[in-house]
Amino acid sequence: MPLTGELFVASKRVRRDGPGFRAVAAATGAEIEPSFSIATTDDVETAAAAAEAAFPIYANLPREERAKFLEAIAEEIEALGDELVERAMQESGLPQARLTGERGRTAGQLRLFAKELRLGDYLRARIDHAIPDRAPAPKPDLRLRMVPLGPVTVFGASNFPLAFSVAGGDTAAALAAGCPVIVKGHSAHPGTSELVAGAITRAAEKTGMPQGVFSLINGAGNSVGSALVTDPRIKAVGFTGSRGGGTALMKLAQNRPVPIPVYAEMSSINPVFLLPGALTAKAEALGTGFIASLTMGAGQFCTNPGLVLALEGPDLDRFVTAASDAMCGAPSQVMLTPGIHKAYTSGVARWASAPALKLLAEGQEPSGPTSGRGALFTMTGADFIADPSHAEEVFGAASLLVRCASIEELIEVVKLLEGQLTATLHLAEDDTALAQQLLPVLERLAGRILANGWPTGVEVTDAQVHGGPFPSTSDGRSTSVGTLAIERFLRPVAYQDLPAALLPAELRDGEAGIPRRVDGKPTL
Ligand code: NAP
Repeated sequence: MPLTGELFVASKRVRRDGPGFRAVAAATGAEIEPSFSIATTDDVETAAAAAEAAFPIYANLPREERAKFLEAIAEEIEALGDELVERAMQESGLPQARLTGERGRTAGQLRLFAKELRLGDYLRARIDHAIPDRAPAPKPDLRLRMVPLGPVTVFGASNFPLAFSVAGGDTAAALAAGCPVIVKGHSAHPGTSELVAGAITRAAEKTGMPQGVFSLINGAGNSVGSALVTDPRIKAVGFTGSRGGGTALMKLAQNRPVPIPVYAEMSSINPVFLLPGALTAKAEALGTGFIASLTMGAGQFCTNPGLVLALEGPDLDRFVTAASDAMCGAPSQVMLTPGIHKAYTSGVARWASAPALKLLAEGQEPSGPTSGRGALFTMTGADFIADPSHAEEVFGAASLLVRCASIEELIEVVKLLEGQLTATLHLAEDDTALAQQLLPVLERLAGRILANGWPTGVEVTDAQVHGGPFPSTSDGRSTSVGTLAIERFLRPVAYQDLPAALLPAELRDGEAGIPRRVDGKPTL
């Protein structure tokens, strides 16, 4: 199906005259057809009004109907076939295998949230029966469940054009919760976004969803995104991107007459700890494994290992030799956008000019105008403690090895780090005592702690946390991957002494078909 460049405003395709914009091929920087419409303020108004009108209908649909909608989106995305992957390859520069896998993950996430709806424990249903004859005062009947917040705005991410964009994790979680979604499309992949928006719209029609349950809006500059975040009908925001963009949206949302939550995933350097026993046992394997993780996808993962910490010594020298050799052989790779490539090369240049940092190795020469070359730097723990500013994220395949003189120095370095999505421990059996000492520090630092692996690769499951203290995210109490992500778009309501006829079905006495806590006891 040829791309039209249209917006999707309240499930209708809309074309706007006037200057539009074109996607740019990541590999060459050349513009690609067609021209995409830029939304007007009227389009934002229409989408927000339709989302608000759809909300009470959509939020109160039986969970089974919303589950079928999510499954229909997954089917429609799969039915797009090669066209989707080919357009995403052109726009993002990401390879076919990666995007095919990402399409599978996108469909899988939607189906996982359908399962979550059927399971129903996300409602956290609780019933505390009344005790009318309790002394000195009677106890009222109280029942609780989670309800959706209202229309949600989602900002598509540049580095996951499928799994974290139009029908990605934020959209799936919000739709599952019962919230209509207005996506602000990322300007780096408008064609991919149009194809996916078409799939969502077809799924909505086939499953009888209310108009206004979904819109896709493109904008020029920041005006459309800002208009959506400040619209009084929008009740929450999901965002993945830069720290500057995320914090700007947080400020806008906080300064509204009625502030709303912004769930922004922004910057993380994902420290990796090489403990002494692990280094002795497998320094070379750690060196090559580290570079493979660092350079995967040109390093454009939020969980990229951008910082390595270890104790000085001959085993660390073995690691450095293996990692440097692997880095020298790593091919350069096309980056997502010319802007991201520029930010990466200037970040590497900043590190290269810092007197405390030493370049250990670089990847192969860039092969094109937007191709990024990996880079590995090192510095001492003492220098890091004197100036921790070098821990700022360089988004791409660059990493910094901090060589510490003692455990105490290493722990001091960790305490200077900002909030992280992940922290990784490489350990052998004789590192257990040290790992136990580090664990409480890491729990305060990161949302996911892993052992003897690499942080890239985020499994989508019930027990996943892809979140962490600021600035890795704006709110470390949440996750944007896994079924717990639904909680960002819900809030609790308690019903006191309501007659049964007014209670939601999940809170009435008798069989409800979902897990509940009744008078303090978990029940099925
Ligand atoms: P970005 O510049 O933050 O843009 C993300 C989205 O937010 C885009 O749709 C953008 O609109 C919009 N936006 C940004 N600032 C805004 C503002 N002040 N008001 C309203 N809307 C705003 O991120 P990016 O283009 O994807 O990449 C730039 C940098 O972000 C990278 O170099 C990297 O450092 C970081 N990044 C981090 C992650 C992560 O997972 N942590 C992922 C991707 C990127 P437009 O599209 O119209 O510009």
